[in-house]
Amino acid sequence: MQIHNIDLHYHAGQERQAGVTLTEYIDYAQKTARKILGITDHYHLYFLHSPIDREFPYEKNLRGFLKFREDVESQKPLFPEMTILFAPEIAWYEDFAEIPAEVIRVSDYFICEPPFKGDFAENTAQLLKRMNEISQFAKAAGKPVFLAHPFRIAVNYRLIEREIGPEVTAIQTRESFEDFSCRELDEFFMFDIKKIAQAAQKLQIPMEINGNTQFRIRSTNLPGVLQMLWAALKVMKEEGVEFVPGSDLHGFVTGLGKMGEGVPEDCFRALGIDVSDLKFLERVLG
Ligand SMILES: [Zn+2]
Repeated sequence: MQIHNIDLHYHAGQERQAGVTLTEYIDYAQKTARKILGITDHYHLYFLHSPIDREFPYEKNLRGFLKFREDVESQKPLFPEMTILFAPEIAWYEDFAEIPAEVIRVSDYFICEPPFKGDFAENTAQLLKRMNEISQFAKAAGKPVFLAHPFRIAVNYRLIEREIGPEVTAIQTRESFEDFSCRELDEFFMFDIKKIAQAAQKLQIPMEINGNTQFRIRSTNLPGVLQMLWAALKVMKEEGVEFVPGSDLHGFVTGLGKMGEGVPEDCFRALGIDVSDLKFLERVLG
């Protein structure tokens, strides 16, 4: 088993691309060397806060959610050599207390998204607050939880949502990705990385190394930025943070963040993280 054989963040429910079946999603996963597959979906696409004008494969309620869960279960005999897991992805604004017991019961683990509020101090404070809530939820639910793509929103902010600025294009590739200073990394990713890492270690919340975030960076032809992401992960690793591999694949159409990204094994390798370091997986598999 290698890192790229383990993908704990693979969307295949409401996010399913039109015309592609759940079986085809898992078949693709199998053909692309995934052996342990965590199938996910955005919780808020079943329990809507405001109407979404989009065709979905499932009803937007608990019944639809449980039908998706059942469909995932029914796939298992078709892929006997794979380990298929089920894990909803919870947005940062959800109130954990409102998640139905039924949803918790049928889930193997949970993926939690980080909040992002704007400036450095506020991002750090909101992340800390949410991580405390996540930790309490994990304990109460008795299910493992990890924090998804901790650097995603800064990457979106700097590379995707606006025109890429000169402060980004000026970033020079370094001899080694470890040559970036904490100050540079904090400034780029817009939160106190060390402080968040220390909290993650203390609260035992693993961080995801997310394929989709790395794909977005790779697509911009800015290798220095990818080095910065790896450097930021290294800062977290030095604080004793645990990591989880996930591709965050949604579908197969062209477009940033939508294609079939892989699990970034090269990043794990650079950080010196092996399958034997994936304690989260051990907890999930019992
Ligand atoms: Zn996701």
